[in-house]
Amino acid sequence: MPSRNARPAPREPLAKYRSKRDFERTPEPAGGLSVPADGARRFVVQRHRARRLHYDLRFEIDAVLVSWAVPKGPTLDPKSRRMAIHVEDHPLEYFDFEGVIPAGEYGGGDVIVWDWGTWSTDDPEFDLAAAVRDGDVHVDLHGDKLAGRFVLIRRDDKPAGKEQWLLLHKHDDHAVAGWDPEDHDRSVKTGRTNDEVKTDPDFTWDSDAPAN
Ligand code: MN
Repeated sequence: MPSRNARPAPREPLAKYRSKRDFERTPEPAGGLSVPADGARRFVVQRHRARRLHYDLRFEIDAVLVSWAVPKGPTLDPKSRRMAIHVEDHPLEYFDFEGVIPAGEYGGGDVIVWDWGTWSTDDPEFDLAAAVRDGDVHVDLHGDKLAGRFVLIRRDDKPAGKEQWLLLHKHDDHAVAGWDPEDHDRSVKTGRTNDEVKTDPDFTWDSDAPAN
């Protein structure tokens, strides 16, 4: 692989994430808190109405959330291939972030925790970080909405952090023809829609208060 696509140095895996945000203004977490790396194989999908609607698919790997922005969102429909842009790693504390990012800030808009759960494979030696580096990820998701075998395949090598990948669901027992994520629009964390999060000031995160 070209070196320009190398992942960020391990010491500052969140440098790019932090460089884009003013934490005096956005309610998003800065990261860096001591979160135990418990080996949990977690994933989360956030529905993010920014300048353009997209879904952020994130896997916990080595104490960060390795992330893709999926404009049309994940689907259980095995005939539908979804473009996914590999974006900067996010801090683990982002896992259950739901709230309003102020207009004018990076990613300004509203965010819900659209789905979450764990992932697994049949291979006990499987290394998700290595699979991401190789651009070829096959995992079974166990979420509230998403289930079954998903595949992420890197399609090209754009400058660091912007490669285009494809996200698709395999033909398996969890596949559902025509399944549309927009038909499943409530948060798995609070049961709320993006509109409800946007209009309820109680859920606008206060930087002086605990996250939840
Ligand atoms: Mn986003």
